[in-house]
Amino acid sequence: MSNTGYITEDTIVALATPSGANGAIAVIRVSGQQAIKITNAIFKGKDLSQQASHTIHFGTIRDGDEIIDEVLVSLFVAPNSYTKENSVEISTHNSKYIIERVIHLLIKQGARAARAGEFTLRAFLNGGMDLSQAEAVADLIASNSAASHQIAMQQMRGGFSNQLKSLREDLIHFASLIELELDFSEEDVEFANRDQLKNLINKIKVIVQKLILSFEQGNVLKNGVPVVIAGKPNVGKSTLLNAFLNEERAIVSDIAGTTRDTIEDEINIHGVTFRFIDTAGIRETADIIEAKGVERTRAKMKQARLIIYLFDPLQDKVDEVQSQLQEIQNLQIPFLTIINKADLLSDQQKDEYASLNPLYISAKEQIGVEELKEELINRVQLGNLNTEDVMVTNIRHVEALQKTSDSLERVLFGIDNPVTSDFLAMDIRQALYHLGEITGTVSTDDLLDNIFSKFCIGK
Ligand code: GDP
Repeated sequence: MSNTGYITEDTIVALATPSGANGAIAVIRVSGQQAIKITNAIFKGKDLSQQASHTIHFGTIRDGDEIIDEVLVSLFVAPNSYTKENSVEISTHNSKYIIERVIHLLIKQGARAARAGEFTLRAFLNGGMDLSQAEAVADLIASNSAASHQIAMQQMRGGFSNQLKSLREDLIHFASLIELELDFSEEDVEFANRDQLKNLINKIKVIVQKLILSFEQGNVLKNGVPVVIAGKPNVGKSTLLNAFLNEERAIVSDIAGTTRDTIEDEINIHGVTFRFIDTAGIRETADIIEAKGVERTRAKMKQARLIIYLFDPLQDKVDEVQSQLQEIQNLQIPFLTIINKADLLSDQQKDEYASLNPLYISAKEQIGVEELKEELINRVQLGNLNTEDVMVTNIRHVEALQKTSDSLERVLFGIDNPVTSDFLAMDIRQALYHLGEITGTVSTDDLLDNIFSKFCIGK
């Protein structure tokens, strides 16, 4: 496998549940060759070394004669565990004191404190999962919406890796055929059919490109869909944000231009996270502080997937609305035209705006807010995620895919402008290398440190 210098001989221990959190139970995780033996030395109950894998045992943890806690011990015998090593999970009562005592006792028996992400690192080093799957574990734990959960779960179960694996195998086949040609270079033979190779490379490029493109959507799903709430001061942007959030977050006031800064908040609508950005209006202003806000509004709008543009019918007559919409149209970002304060409008007054096809809401009275949420989901078209779709959400993966794509491009160029087999082989090997970087077939200690140090201790 990889050229790493990690030592996995020692037995490691860490608290796996959040430290300092309220809750009835804490789980202490032990992994390594000696995990069962070390736990057995402080456990009174059945002899753990004689028990089958995947069994749970009640007993006490003792320091000499002193009982520290009554616990449940779950046993996982190698290789049938997360880390592929002997592993034990000790469920104790959730007391900081008990946890410290138990971990200390385990360390006294020969275990050592685990580093951040070390359990998952071991799962990777012992072949239990590839690198992209290990990274998905972190995403899964961080997931806070149905969509981000679904992507992480898909990646953890290997969807992403499986696609790459078969691509790599096809490429390896060609690389070896071309390398064989090198051995016969005097005789000018071609073992690798160039048309077939070209077809394969094109096929792979399409998939790699699709994965690269999925990043934008995958990233949006993971981090939330950025939506800007815009409109002139006092149209009710903060009130709408509050209605979405169902809490008093942004300051609502009658003084025009109060929302000077941008405020961001997240809400979950039908499983998709939206990141709402409440902004100062785009009204031209002499106020310097507010003018800065306006600049920022335009910058923020450009990052949005969707703009909710609010109008106040008491301030904005139809032609005024039309001229503001013109400015929004220039940004070329999808937008929703919303007439707020509809509670103050008669049906007849509403008719005036009919040609603009707006949504009428009252942020203050919470009228039409649910319909607006539905419209948001429809507009971003992320509501029905296809579970079959493999999505890239990790910048490291996109970079590797981009490099793969570049190498493939060079291979294609090499075929069309005949270069010698050794150059062709080199470019194919490069593409293989970058694909391998994603799954960890090719990895370095630096890369692993970088990835796993971002995990919590106990993962
Ligand atoms: P912003 O400057 O666009 O953020 O506007 P605010 O949310 O601060 O609202 C300005 C004023 O309009 C406040 O007094 C709100 O109570 C009022 N307002 C907001 N939405 C509505 C609404 O739907 N109906 C009515 N009648 N007043 C509203």
